[in-house]
Amino acid sequence: MIEVKELYKSFDGFQALKGLNINVPKGAVYGLVGPNGAGKSTVIRHIAGIYRQDSGEVLIEGEPVFENIAIKERIAYIPDEIFYYSQANIKDMMQFYRSIYSNFSTERFEKLGEAFHIDPKTPMRKLSKGMQKQVAFWLTLSCCPDYIILDEPVDGLDPVMRRQVWSLLLSDVAERGVTVLVSSHNLRELEDVCDHVGIMDHGRLLLERSLSQLQDNMVKIQLALPEGKELPEGLELVHESRTGRLRQLILRGREEELSAKLMAAEPLFMDVLPLSLEEIFIYELGGAEHEIKDIIL
Ligand code: ADP
Ligand code: MG
Repeated sequence: MIEVKELYKSFDGFQALKGLNINVPKGAVYGLVGPNGAGKSTVIRHIAGIYRQDSGEVLIEGEPVFENIAIKERIAYIPDEIFYYSQANIKDMMQFYRSIYSNFSTERFEKLGEAFHIDPKTPMRKLSKGMQKQVAFWLTLSCCPDYIILDEPVDGLDPVMRRQVWSLLLSDVAERGVTVLVSSHNLRELEDVCDHVGIMDHGRLLLERSLSQLQDNMVKIQLALPEGKELPEGLELVHESRTGRLRQLILRGREEELSAKLMAAEPLFMDVLPLSLEEIFIYELGGAEHEIKDIIL
């Protein structure tokens, strides 16, 4: 579990974080979304143990992270700008990581090499930006961390490699219960992979939700009613669109109860459709919070 409590950080009088609160449950894939300059990288550098806060707390499993070797050994962090020793090749970097992370698995490093198709003897400076990022994932996963912190990780990766990397990460989540915190300026980028989302701007958290919380409480249903039939009373309709007789409804409530209620209207056709994270946010936020919609979509 990662907890950020009332975090404040200023740079030369400029307040980058203003009482930020974040809660990442264990085993979550948490998407931290916000526009450029929101403070994502700043809070991530606190969680990775690089920055010391002005005030507030940054805890992992209840312990402060800063200068805490036992905790930091269990965190792997891929920054927005990756650093390598310019003379090093991949194997040198592997040895460097191995000397720092006591959980580093050489066996895993060799096995993962098959997924990345890059010769470990290649000097880092000869790799493209995207390939350097792949190597960062390769090294990170070989550290067998319990916490993986990623700052805008998919920038510069092609779609095939994005899928590859996410599939490796998500299998770590499923098999080892790894907790992932990933930032992006775009909700769409994260919607297939995250089960928790926090939205931040101007150094504060605006909203934090779990996907199951959201999905359990909103349903998209497509249906066609017979001539003369109307929707049953007592539905909490969030949105409706029609094409001829076919209606698409976004309803608040649980799927089983809503389907049962709608069956009473003897529909000619009825189908429950998956709601995307983006749709949930749009309808969840309603018309009121334009500020947030502009930020994430
Ligand atoms: P994000 O990652 O969400 O784009 P950052 O955390 O990088 O945002 O930056 C948040 C704000 O803090 C920005 O206005 C940025 O200019 C400022 N900032 C970040 N790091 C520094 C720094 N080292 N010195 C001065 N200002 C900084
Ligand atoms: Mg950033």
